Amino acid sequence: MLEILHRAQVPATFCIVGLKGDLNAQLLPRLVDEGHEIGNHTFPHPNVAMIRPQLLSLELNATERLVESRLGRRSVLLRPPDAEDVEPETPEQVKPLLLTGDLGYYTYHQAPDHTPASTQLNVALLWLADEPGGSRALSGA
Ligand SMILES: [Zn+2]
Repeated sequence: MLEILHRAQVPATFCIVGLKGDLNAQLLPRLVDEGHEIGNHTFPHPNVAMIRPQLLSLELNATERLVESRLGRRSVLLRPPDAEDVEPETPEQVKPLLLTGDLGYYTYHQAPDHTPASTQLNVALLWLADEPGGSRALSGA
């Protein structure tokens, strides 16, 4: 995947699940070296609307520490797993956004209509974040 992006000169945003980022830590510097952006996608990929705020904060912090230790920089982008809380429909889905905003994250998701604006910001190739080689690899789910 990185070879294809490199040949096409297409920067992407890789939202890192800390657990998988740790297992593939040797790839993290290459992402930055080749001009890609890094985002946080929690540590083990929970539904953020279903966990306590303290656990969400811990999840984000753990992934952030991984990114900082490997890359020497912090990410301000957050893509919540499954993104259902980016367009909240219930009060429970709003709560995580309040916390992540207070923590300094810009929360985003891949719009389902794949408009140019959304794809420009988020060519969210989550092969490092979600199931390796799985069907979600290009869906940004
Ligand atoms: Zn995901």
